[in-house]
Amino acid sequence: MLIYICDILIYMKKVVVLGGGGFIGGHLITKLKSLGHWVRGSDIKFNEFKKSDADEFIIADLRDPAKVDVIIDETIDEVYQLAADMGGSTYINTGEHDSDVMHNSCMINLNVLKTCSTKNVKKVFYSSSACIYPEHNQLDPDNPKCSEESAYPAEPDSEYGWEKLFSERLYFVFNRCFPKLDVRVARFHNIYGPYGTFEGGKEKAPAAFCRKVALAKDGDEVEVYGDGKQTRSFLLIDTCIEGVMRFMESDFKGPLNIGSEEMISMNDFMKMVIKISGKKLTIKNKDFHGVGVRGRNSDNNLIREKLNWEPVFSLEDGIKITYDWINNELNKKI
Ligand code: NAD
Repeated sequence: MLIYICDILIYMKKVVVLGGGGFIGGHLITKLKSLGHWVRGSDIKFNEFKKSDADEFIIADLRDPAKVDVIIDETIDEVYQLAADMGGSTYINTGEHDSDVMHNSCMINLNVLKTCSTKNVKKVFYSSSACIYPEHNQLDPDNPKCSEESAYPAEPDSEYGWEKLFSERLYFVFNRCFPKLDVRVARFHNIYGPYGTFEGGKEKAPAAFCRKVALAKDGDEVEVYGDGKQTRSFLLIDTCIEGVMRFMESDFKGPLNIGSEEMISMNDFMKMVIKISGKKLTIKNKDFHGVGVRGRNSDNNLIREKLNWEPVFSLEDGIKITYDWINNELNKKI
């Protein structure tokens, strides 16, 4: 359907966002609505922090194929598949949740693709992860290799990564066997920002660091897992969403990294959060068996080439926004 928004002609699509009650899915719904599309969100739960902007929201367990069949009906043009059983390193790197992580996310992706291939869906977006990259290329914290073609021979350091790699293949296979079903496969690298989980065990490092610092008082120690020399890069949610939109409009199917190239060690990252808070805190490094690879950074050569664009947003500026939001959420509980 064609509609006018502020004198701009827009082709209004009917879109489904799976995992729409989650962090990235919630932001994606807001963006798609702002572009004038009709959006149906679905998740096993609502977002804890924000009412969904979706036109319609269906609470459903996407491991059930009958539910997926109802959510992705004959009228849907595009599907964004973000639902997954996932969390930060304490959830995916300890091994304790591996059977759930693999089983639940595989079931969801199998159901979604089977349904999409039998309906009128023209394009499906899949959110894979930097966790698919081989451990042997991420041993040097100062020089990790995460270019898209380096994924094989495969050796992810977590079962979460293996599931993502299997599912990436599933999306490309369905595209090959059902050419009318176009696909886009992105590999997200540590996305952070407001309206994401910051406590309970599924939170990722930026949210966990902000929470620890927000709850600490002058003179306290704040914990960083491992020796703190391990490196990562982090991307603010708004820039991630812009990347997803640009990727969907491009004619490149992926896989494509969507991440920042601003790599930082975990101790330096914690120092940054402490500085933002203005508190006087010291870092305590703590032994932890689920720290993950020694180094990881987005390699943005391919996204620069394919989209003529790359995700750039200063980590310090993004963490200021996130720290303020988490601090505010914690204050509401007092
Ligand atoms: P999230 O946990 O906030 O969102 C995932 C959503 O999936 C949750 O709301 C959860 O309830 C839902 N879900 C899980 N099992 C379900 C089921 N059986 N039925 C229905 N819904 C179910 O995580 P996120 O950070 O928003 O991540 C979104 C996607 O991006 C995930 O696929 C994740 O693996 C991927 N990803 C995220 C990051 C990141 O840094 N946040 C990095 C790499 C990849």
